[in-house]
Amino acid sequence: KREQLELLATVEAVTKDGVSLRLAGNISSVKELNIALKYGAEGVGLFRTEFLYMDRDSFPSEEEQFEVYKLVAEKVSGSTVVIRTLDIGGDKHLDYFQLPEEQNPFLGYRAIRISLDRKDMFKTQLTAIMRASVYGNVKMMFPMISSVEEVQAAKAVLEEVKAELTQKGIPFNPHMPVGIMIEVPAAVMIADLLAEEVDFFSIGTNDLVQYVLAVDRMNEQIAHMYHPYHPAVLRMIRMTVEAAKGADIDVSVCGEMAADERSLPLWLELGISELSMSPQALLKVKHRTLNTLASDAREVAKACFKHRTSTENEKQLSAFACKSG
Ligand code: PEP
Ligand code: MG
Repeated sequence: KREQLELLATVEAVTKDGVSLRLAGNISSVKELNIALKYGAEGVGLFRTEFLYMDRDSFPSEEEQFEVYKLVAEKVSGSTVVIRTLDIGGDKHLDYFQLPEEQNPFLGYRAIRISLDRKDMFKTQLTAIMRASVYGNVKMMFPMISSVEEVQAAKAVLEEVKAELTQKGIPFNPHMPVGIMIEVPAAVMIADLLAEEVDFFSIGTNDLVQYVLAVDRMNEQIAHMYHPYHPAVLRMIRMTVEAAKGADIDVSVCGEMAADERSLPLWLELGISELSMSPQALLKVKHRTLNTLASDAREVAKACFKHRTSTENEKQLSAFACKSG
């Protein structure tokens, strides 16, 4: 079965009735990039840079980061790589960076909040990303955004970095697209306002589900309550897509929901054409895409958007996934 799937690596992801999807890879290292490329990833939709900062005893230098970002940009040349700025805190820690003890780490000092607080560290990363931007098709993305002010503050730091690079005569792509993760309910509710600030959205369903449902994504005791197909989650995703379309910016999905082939009808109905997922999921999602009739899938999704429970949604999406091959 696996060997058969691997034959699909070079096949385009198109539904039976001709709707194309772009399936990109989520990576956290060059090693994972190689796996993603082997499985036919069309670029990288999420480069989790925190892993460059982990398993070592000090912050990586600008040069060290630049080398990795450049290598990744070059390897996916022809397609795009979305580099996400540091997302530590919550479940991810650095041995050499003392995070405060917190009652609620997922509601605490995390991701963009740390970056904006530790401007030195943030600037080092942004500089490295900007320098790499001339070696491929690089986009930059900020995690855990919950307000317009945060986006503006992050973009202001980016402008400082650009000014410094210009002054030093170091090349960068002045038109590099800048986007944000939509993974906090507040961001969904103001998605129309955020869309005015950025070039694209990427929906991070792992955190979005956790925050919308108030269900800790790491807590096994309540894992049965972690429902990606909860009507509240589906509505949040729909709102985000509508805001993106209203502002004419791109929107993709990079959380684990994208790796669950049962979600396909939702993306087809919403008009989401780019999904980014762990490399291991690429071929099965492609296989499902090839065996799906988008017109049927959309009907299923329409029904889901009317359902009142996660149970109904899960049942119907699972049944459709089985039926369509
Ligand atoms: C997400 O939250 O859905 C996401 C893709 O980011 P991470 O899993 O790295 O928090
Ligand atoms: Mg996240």
